[in-house]
Amino acid sequence: MTQTAMAFADEIALCSGENVNVCYQCGKCTCGCPVAFNMDLTPTQTMHAVRLGMKDTVLNSRTIWICASCETCTTRCPQELDVAKVMDGARIIARREKLKPAVPEVTAFYRASLGSIKYLGRMYELGIVMLLKVLTRAFTQDLKLGIDMMKKRKLALLPTFRGAGAARRLFNKIAKMEKP
Ligand code: SF4
Ligand code: SF4
Repeated sequence: MTQTAMAFADEIALCSGENVNVCYQCGKCTCGCPVAFNMDLTPTQTMHAVRLGMKDTVLNSRTIWICASCETCTTRCPQELDVAKVMDGARIIARREKLKPAVPEVTAFYRASLGSIKYLGRMYELGIVMLLKVLTRAFTQDLKLGIDMMKKRKLALLPTFRGAGAARRLFNKIAKMEKP
């Protein structure tokens, strides 16, 4: 994939409605980001990389998957650039281009939780955990925590199906809208 200056910023603008060219690199977004310490590109660097057309770098970064969409960056930006939306846009483009995510656990979580909402109409935590274990093959990770939560009745054993039909219709409608 070539790294085309401007084109990527335009693509992000189309996807997110945000113009990264207003960013003047003050760094306030990064200073407030609660997960920046775990990113390979800070939010500030990500905005700059988008402006420079470094599509491969951004779409293959850990940053876009680690971003928790908390919007602290968006709130802090003196240029009113919605950094969180830019991150969303980058994730959408990465998924659309079927790129292997740099943090596969995050996409596995998206798949598991969206599957639960689509077929059950709501989050069924125990089902999500089990599907996540299968997708990530991390079968024993957090096992003790899960057992403790079940003992305290924080995880329901069985799912409920309230709103399942409406959720399915919504997902189908979106799938039709997204068809090229
Ligand atoms: S939305 Fe993402 S990039 Fe912005 S502060 Fe939160 S975690 Fe960091
Ligand atoms: S806070 Fe806004 S202007 Fe400052 S670096 Fe972040 S995105 Fe750019």
